[in-house]
Amino acid sequence: MSDNNRDQAALGKVGMMRQIQPEYYVMRLKAVAGDLTARQLARISSVAEQYGRGFVHLSTRQGIEIHYVHQDNLEPARLALAEEGIEMGACGPRVRSIVACPGDETCRWGVIDTKAMARELDARYFKAETPSKFKLAVTGCAHNCTKANENDIGIRGAIEPKWERSSCTDCSLCVSFCPVKAIGRRETDDSDGFQYEVDENSCINCSVCTSLCPTNAWVVGRKGYTVFIGGTMGKVPRFASVLKRIVETEEEVFDLVDKAFTCYRENGLKKERFGHMIDRIGLENIKEGLLEVTVQHKKQR
Ligand code: SF4
Ligand code: SF4
Ligand code: SF4
Repeated sequence: MSDNNRDQAALGKVGMMRQIQPEYYVMRLKAVAGDLTARQLARISSVAEQYGRGFVHLSTRQGIEIHYVHQDNLEPARLALAEEGIEMGACGPRVRSIVACPGDETCRWGVIDTKAMARELDARYFKAETPSKFKLAVTGCAHNCTKANENDIGIRGAIEPKWERSSCTDCSLCVSFCPVKAIGRRETDDSDGFQYEVDENSCINCSVCTSLCPTNAWVVGRKGYTVFIGGTMGKVPRFASVLKRIVETEEEVFDLVDKAFTCYRENGLKKERFGHMIDRIGLENIKEGLLEVTVQHKKQR
């Protein structure tokens, strides 16, 4: 590696990428869950004016980039940002800034506290070295606004619905508004005469039924997180696979994430994305290993 290339790798670690224009760089800033304070935005604006060309670029991962920073100004610009608590993002083969939607803090569909989870993931993994780039996203419900299944690890809020006969008026609305037609009605021999049921294999745990039933006959039976592994876009896209459909505790989510992350670091080839590693080794083998280890881990406590 030439000195120049080594410099580029070092700069990439701290979120600075060389532009095609000689001597100019992009400064990629970190914004966990896409959050920045108004004061931080004001500081970013003034740094873009002073050291860039007076504009910023919004990345697809909730980040802000300042373009056209001359190489001689990288350090003063970084220091000016750091004064307001703005950290640099990441490039290259490491964990990138954690993406999250607003979740249950402000969104009426939110099932989980996405931002708290994103901050914890950031504290545990941000900038950790990996065989290729590694992206994590947290999304509050099945609307999937932050596209959990396009990430190496995606976490999505999930509910499991439960039907309560005493509240049901047999209007059949839920059969039509379930987005995947997982709800069915069948005649029964008992005094009720009918029953509404969910096909668990089709249900995407989305909370549409529990939100829209006019008499609240669908209630939340279980609530938690769906954990996805192996999603990626890029040159060879791959939709993520479900590792576990409903994880009920945050502790187990972090346990699974840690196992998946370690598995990738130990088995991934250089420049191989996690999803492509999963395809090479076999999804069922990977899932079995991760879920088995998690169970053993829990038993030891
Ligand atoms: S994914 Fe759900 S909780 Fe998050 S912003 Fe979208 S609708 Fe709201
Ligand atoms: S929408 Fe609610 S009340 Fe109507 S059939 Fe479904 S569960 Fe019963
Ligand atoms: S949670 Fe969503 S997918 Fe599952 S039964 Fe209810 S509406 Fe259908």
